[in-house]
Amino acid sequence: MTEVDTVTPKQVAPDEASLHESIAGALASQGDWRRAYEHLRVALDLARAEPSIPEQLRREVDRLRRERAEAREESLRDALTTVYNRRYLDRRLDDLLSDARKPLAVALADIDLFKNVNDTFGHIVGDQVLRRVAALLREGLPSHAFCARYGGEEFMLVLPAVQPDAAVRVAELARARIAEHPWSALCDGLSVTISVGLAYESGDVTASRRQVLEADDLLYAAKHAGRNRVAYRDRAGTRVIEYCP
Ligand code: GH3
Ligand code: MG
Ligand code: MG
Repeated sequence: MTEVDTVTPKQVAPDEASLHESIAGALASQGDWRRAYEHLRVALDLARAEPSIPEQLRREVDRLRRERAEAREESLRDALTTVYNRRYLDRRLDDLLSDARKPLAVALADIDLFKNVNDTFGHIVGDQVLRRVAALLREGLPSHAFCARYGGEEFMLVLPAVQPDAAVRVAELARARIAEHPWSALCDGLSVTISVGLAYESGDVTASRRQVLEADDLLYAAKHAGRNRVAYRDRAGTRVIEYCP
């Protein structure tokens, strides 16, 4: 009988565990949290076969688990505004729109004449405006709703399971909150408004991207009507909420 044949699993486990732990350390130092986490899990499972789990290993697994969750969350957020990014939006929209039985409203919000903000006040102020608009859009959303940066100076509010009139109210309140924000405190002479296209599907949608295209069409209608407005469609056709200064 060779020496290897006489080794019992219990004797092997701590060596394997150390090996997996070292691999995890090397992967973690390269930022490959997912694979590092997998190796640490194996190390932990092996160590669990022993009477007591080394405390340091347990802490290491907890730390990697936390870092992995943070890295995952970060990969779904827009770096400038911290609202969800396009990757998250596309993924969630695919899921939500594939469930044809549930109503869904999407509101595409675009900052009005934002190029002028950059040209007049500079890009740093432009970035601050983007951050603040994102924060104001996020306020007062119903539960299960979320805000994502669609691209550039455009954001999308996704409102699952709301009635059409409630969706219009959410969009109109967001528009008003931004128009009434004291922007001049950020920069003398600054004012900011948004236009919004709101598309509503009651649950019989077949082409999932159609709703986003409709929101885009309605956004164009809101811009065309003079900006700082919400446009939506009801049985009577396209409606633009008239803005009363
Ligand atoms: P409209 O009312 O028709 O939407 O006019 P607009 O000026 O907002 O539209 P336009 O598409 O001409 O300009 C959008 C501007 O948004 C141009 C671009 O430089 C700016 N922008 C996009 N992303 C960022 C960003 O991350 N930071 C800053 N500061 N500006 C951005
Ligand atoms: Mg735009
Ligand atoms: Mg714009």
